[in-house]
Amino acid sequence: MGRIPEETVTEVLAATDIVDLIGSYFPLKRSGSGFKCNCPFHNEKTPSFNISPVYQNYKCFGCGESGNAIGFLMNHENLPFIDAVKKLAQRANIQIIEDAYDPESDKRRRKISRLKEINNFSARYFHKQLMESPDAQHARDYMRSRGFSKDTATKWLIGWAPKNSREFFHTLKSEGFNGREILNAGLGGLRDKDNPRSGLWSKWYDQLTFPIYNDVGDVVGFSARILREDDKRGKYINTSDTVLFNKSSLLFGLGKARKAMGKKKFALICEGQLDTIVMHEAGFENTVAGLGTAFTEQHARILKRYTDHVTICYDGDSAGRIAAGKAFDHLTANGLTIKLVDMPDGHDPDSYLQEFGTEKLQELIEQARDFFDVKLDQEIAHTNLNSASERAKLLQDLASSVAKMADPLLQDATIQIMATRLRLGADEFRQIVSNAKAVAEKQAFFENRRASAQEPVEAKTESTPIDSTIAYLCHLCLKSKVATESLCEQLESLYEPLQETAGGALLQLILARKPDTDSPAAVQAFLTTLPEADQLALSRTFTDAPTADPIKEVTESVTLLLATHFQKKEATIRAQLADPSLPSDQMFPLVEEIKQLQEFLKNLDSRFIR
Ligand code: ZN
Repeated sequence: MGRIPEETVTEVLAATDIVDLIGSYFPLKRSGSGFKCNCPFHNEKTPSFNISPVYQNYKCFGCGESGNAIGFLMNHENLPFIDAVKKLAQRANIQIIEDAYDPESDKRRRKISRLKEINNFSARYFHKQLMESPDAQHARDYMRSRGFSKDTATKWLIGWAPKNSREFFHTLKSEGFNGREILNAGLGGLRDKDNPRSGLWSKWYDQLTFPIYNDVGDVVGFSARILREDDKRGKYINTSDTVLFNKSSLLFGLGKARKAMGKKKFALICEGQLDTIVMHEAGFENTVAGLGTAFTEQHARILKRYTDHVTICYDGDSAGRIAAGKAFDHLTANGLTIKLVDMPDGHDPDSYLQEFGTEKLQELIEQARDFFDVKLDQEIAHTNLNSASERAKLLQDLASSVAKMADPLLQDATIQIMATRLRLGADEFRQIVSNAKAVAEKQAFFENRRASAQEPVEAKTESTPIDSTIAYLCHLCLKSKVATESLCEQLESLYEPLQETAGGALLQLILARKPDTDSPAAVQAFLTTLPEADQLALSRTFTDAPTADPIKEVTESVTLLLATHFQKKEATIRAQLADPSLPSDQMFPLVEEIKQLQEFLKNLDSRFIR
């Protein structure tokens, strides 16, 4: 495998229309002399991703990504240059003749293509088992009981994983795949994580398997449904994350639903793979599902590329209602409008279809109403509003969903309507929503931090290490004058913790310089004066979310900082005391210090003591 000559690249680009290419992934809107869509590379609500037919390039005014057709494919499908060119060449029917050899990109390319091969092969293997194996009779019976025809099984490449995984591994190996490839593809795991010679085990046994495809139709992993009700592993099992497979960013059925979503101008989401297939077969081809049952933030973002409207069609039971609420939270935060199908108690899309037929389901979907409208009906039916605790819980629950709505006008209208229905003052409910928002913001802040700490760091500069509480305090002080002042007043008691906690110096610098928090430009300008490593530490923690109660946030964070610092100190002293070689004259001051520390910690809010 080698290098593609420049003339060929030019030829491929000349034969490719970038509008056509990007338009095959996302619906485009005309805009002046070009086209627009929501940027696939960052999260946005109004399209700033521009495609120029004249210059044959794209540019996002939000995140700055830009490039030509090759760059788009490399970015969007995570392909190496050579594969992106080949793919375009294939579209344009151009033969590629490669020269010279590049071992590094070749190795990476080969690894990825082997992973796709092994997944594609396994999908066909499982499918053959389902169709032919004498041991799969119960699986075929189950399929039939759910109304699946052979054609459906073939169209979706549904399969059955044999009870004996050794057979599966044996077949893979006889096809030339090795143990490492089986591991990398998430098809097997080591019996003993630390011992590469311990042999492989498989989580795929005696389940129905559903291949999961990426955007371009390669099998990248599996979702499997257990067949025995006594199986304790959860209804659905997914491939663990691999280079190709990330369950929170793949939607089941998307490849088949994409066109219909564009045509019908909305997406239907249901809970599981089986429901999705049943829906497609009944003609609801705009249906997708999250993998497993969880619908994530990333799923919502992906959907937003294709449509602005979603109708949730989940099971009519309490688990379905809870799951719908979670899906709503992610969808509304991404600016989608959401309707909810009022599925009768005890039904799911599949059972409803079986009992009432396609037309009735069509009606039910057409009658889908605004999410909160239906949710209120459902919740009120399942809540005893005379019980103060049940009522409070319901209010909390509703408020936390309303708090996530991205559109402020819609949010306020919803607050008014719900307050009326709940026989509450609008201001009272608005306050509950605002409290829920503060709690969610804090959670999101720490989740972001955790996620970014796990992200592979590609930047050349290492970020300044920063403790999460300090990071949160920095964030507060760059947001709110009140927070800065309140923290400055307590600075004396924080001298030692700030000296000894990661990022403390950075926080002190912010407090010394006090950038004008009323002016975002001033804050940005202050940030640019910092060394790159400090900027990096802050950029990961900085969000635009306002803070509901800065003083309370500062007080709690300071308490947590003090508690953590002095508990760590206590632990260090205890470790010194445990050293048998410690001379006794040094022991007594240490014991005395521990006593003082304990006295100090006793006075702190006990919620922050571990
Ligand atoms: Zn962008």
